[in-house]
Amino acid sequence: MRRQARRDTTPEVALRKELHRRGLRYRLHQRLLQESRTTVDIVFRRARVAVDVRGCFWHACPLHATQPKANAGWWADKLRQNRERDARTEEGLRAVGWRLVVVWEHESPVDAADRIEALVRRNRIGECH
Ligand SMILES: [Zn+2]
Repeated sequence: MRRQARRDTTPEVALRKELHRRGLRYRLHQRLLQESRTTVDIVFRRARVAVDVRGCFWHACPLHATQPKANAGWWADKLRQNRERDARTEEGLRAVGWRLVVVWEHESPVDAADRIEALVRRNRIGECH
């Protein structure tokens, strides 16, 4: 069974490679909120852009969410808790001025990188290099 707090998942690594190829530099697995142990997968500090790569199953993607039949009650709770934690993280980050980009496992890394690159470059305008 896949562990919940996986790092370096296949979709995350593919996205990181695509961002790196475009000359973007970022930090990985940063804890951005003091009140939360949750880490954010890919972080652009200067542009204040955070990227969360979410597995379709664990984070109940709108297209691919499934409900396991065995231990249905336990899974329903577990997946609900994950969604609630995601919502709290999003709210917390926005409250302190971060822009959060959510990338689903099913998305193409190129499309996701397009969105992220546009946002990062826009938010860097006016900064010294
Ligand atoms: Zn999905």
